Amino acid sequence: MWQSLSPEWQTAFDEAWEAFRNGCIPIGAALFDENGGLLIRDHNRGAEAGTLNRLISHAEANILRRLDTGQYNVRALVLYTTMEPCPMCMGTIVMSNIRHIRYAARDPHCGSVHWNDDDPYIRGKQIEHILEGGEAEFVQLCIQSYYELRGAEQGRGDDVLKQFGKINAGAVAAARALYRDKALDAFAESGIPFSQVYDEIIRIGGSNTEK
Ligand SMILES: [Zn+2]
Repeated sequence: MWQSLSPEWQTAFDEAWEAFRNGCIPIGAALFDENGGLLIRDHNRGAEAGTLNRLISHAEANILRRLDTGQYNVRALVLYTTMEPCPMCMGTIVMSNIRHIRYAARDPHCGSVHWNDDDPYIRGKQIEHILEGGEAEFVQLCIQSYYELRGAEQGRGDDVLKQFGKINAGAVAAARALYRDKALDAFAESGIPFSQVYDEIIRIGGSNTEK
């Protein structure tokens, strides 16, 4: 449930919902100092007016482009992101000297945390990466599947959905149930806080959330 999420995760998920409400891929992120103080929060801005390159306006990269690296001990900062970083964001994390990552959900489509093991250069950076999983992963995969269902309806294919389904069929099923009634669109229009949407998704998921 929402209440069991840490404040850091609540901030990242609020950003993911902001992205959803703006028609963007619903991924949010937030950067904290070693004492848990919030430094920067942002979300995917791919569909927002004024975004020139829609393809690379990702939550994590948007944050790190705004980080004044001279002001902080960057290696002590902790980056929370609701989705496993993609190749670009993982590269941006590495080159920014971020050494602590928390991600809510695995991304079987383009997640690149495995570079920590596969690539000798990145392995040498000794990046701490922790998957939150559980309900947080379920909710992220659900809202992103919902976004992908809309895309599939518009002819963009369903490859991402198939891959999400392989690691969490319950989350994709919950997204399909919500999408039938356009429930998340209705929530977004109503302006209710994401805390309520999060718990509603958990309720629909039922016992599937731990799969
Ligand atoms: Zn990315």
